[in-house]
Amino acid sequence: MPASCSRCAPRCWPSCAPSGAARSADLAFALEERESAELVAIDEALKRIADGSYGLCIDCGVGIATPRLHANPTALRCVACQEKIEHAQGTAPPAGY
Ligand SMILES: [Zn+2]
Repeated sequence: MPASCSRCAPRCWPSCAPSGAARSADLAFALEERESAELVAIDEALKRIADGSYGLCIDCGVGIATPRLHANPTALRCVACQEKIEHAQGTAPPAGY
């Protein structure tokens, strides 16, 4: 029980609890965000299929390697351009991407 709860406990339970409730809400939100980002990416991929640019790197125009598209069908860039961007941002890609 956190110190801030000593006055109102136990009435405030679980709103003051350092509980999994808040964390799982955050997690659900994060998952939702991630899912909608994936849906947007899929939608974009479908558009690129429709206009014939699917599988081409949006930066250099080179065809994206087939194994990369198999691993990540919504990939926008070839490995070289993706690595350049990730190095520029100083971030590693999420696992599996
Ligand atoms: Zn490229």
